[in-house]
Amino acid sequence: MNVYDSTRMRDALAVHGYQETSVPSKADVILVNTCHIREKASEKLFSELGRLAREKKKNALVVVAGCVVQADGVEILRRSKLIDIAVGPQNYHLLPELILKYQRKNGRVIRADFPAESKFDYLPIPQKSGASAFLAVQEGCDHFCSYCVVPYTRGCEFSRPMKEIVSEAKALVKAGAKEIMLLGQNVNGWHGDKGKDLGDVIREVAKIRGLKRIRYTTSYPSETTKNLILAHADTPKLMPYIHLPIQSGSNRVLKAMNRQYTVEEYEKVVAAFRKVRPDIAISSDFIVGFPGETEADFEETLKLVERVGYASSFSFKFSARPGTPASLMKNQIPEEIKTKRLMRLQALLLKQQRAFNEATIGKVFEVLLTEKGKGRGQLLGYSPYLQGTVVKAPVSILGEIVRVKVVGASATSLTAELVKQKNG
Ligand code: SAM
Ligand code: SF4
Repeated sequence: MNVYDSTRMRDALAVHGYQETSVPSKADVILVNTCHIREKASEKLFSELGRLAREKKKNALVVVAGCVVQADGVEILRRSKLIDIAVGPQNYHLLPELILKYQRKNGRVIRADFPAESKFDYLPIPQKSGASAFLAVQEGCDHFCSYCVVPYTRGCEFSRPMKEIVSEAKALVKAGAKEIMLLGQNVNGWHGDKGKDLGDVIREVAKIRGLKRIRYTTSYPSETTKNLILAHADTPKLMPYIHLPIQSGSNRVLKAMNRQYTVEEYEKVVAAFRKVRPDIAISSDFIVGFPGETEADFEETLKLVERVGYASSFSFKFSARPGTPASLMKNQIPEEIKTKRLMRLQALLLKQQRAFNEATIGKVFEVLLTEKGKGRGQLLGYSPYLQGTVVKAPVSILGEIVRVKVVGASATSLTAELVKQKNG
């Protein structure tokens, strides 16, 4: 979502004549987008500002955007004198205006309210896109998991209407996108048009000529509809991959987290996806060391992982976030126990990821080549199952979808060779 927001801020500034540069010493405006989800992510802002203070041009404006601004407000201006403008995630469409305001009064500006109007109504139509593009269809969250800051920083759930989504998707395809990743903190809770759900959005977007692949993330397990599951069977452009975070394999912990499903219900959803699309890759997020998590609870998570079998995953130590109920729970878990549990869980998840990747050796499938690889003559792309795939290929085919044969695999990526393309 932050990558998407950053591209939208770039688009909003482009209308006013700004051009993107990745070299801070050349920039007139430096934009730092921030994440507040875990303490580590939040703290990155201040180390980044330290680096920028040394690199930036003397008069360059420093803008800090994102959830740290929303959560900490004027406190971040107090903490760093370098920041000229601070803007929350619901106000970034106003960035050009805020820059003018700063220049007019030559004073620091902060904007972090929840405006009544949608920022999407004010953002320009995208003119630029890579081969794979993000498109926000839903934002905010009403679930209030006891550990999470999202409902406070991104606000309550908002779904963009279907018409708006389709028109942005068409613009992205026109600008070069072959793949679109539909985004939302709770994407399968999309309810932008009465009586429709995310499955309908996917089918509508799939009608766009020139668009080859559709993905979506992140889904809340118990908001998965039959219609969405069926889209995996009837929409060939929808990739066989679902990110379905469970967080913990213990029902006791899930309840304390205020997750509104049980382990058994989660596994039923996984089985339903696998029934319509047996090859579907499943991934998840996990939190270890949630307050009160016992060794037995943690063992339940390991058992769940063994039963489901994940193609990839993200796992984190519980991070107490100010203002969340879990941060005030008494039975916090010591750091060294969290570390030990995380290492055990990650070893198992990595083993599964390696096995999933190795099972594709010898297979032929299509890869969307999205960027240059690290090695000379290498391009990096993504398999239908979202496996990073290194292919020896000329740079002239960057941005294309090509057929490859997988010749090698590690826990984190595949290596593949081009095979003769269908059209010769
Ligand atoms: N809405 C998604 C869901 O419910 O699964 C997750 C979105 S959240 C931005 C991404 C992930 O960050 C979560 O799935 C969770 O694993 C992790 N996360 C959120 N708050 C956390 C915290 N306080 N400590 C550790 N991990 C956290
Ligand atoms: Fe945070 Fe996801 Fe829970 Fe919403 S559903 S509160 S975004 S973890």
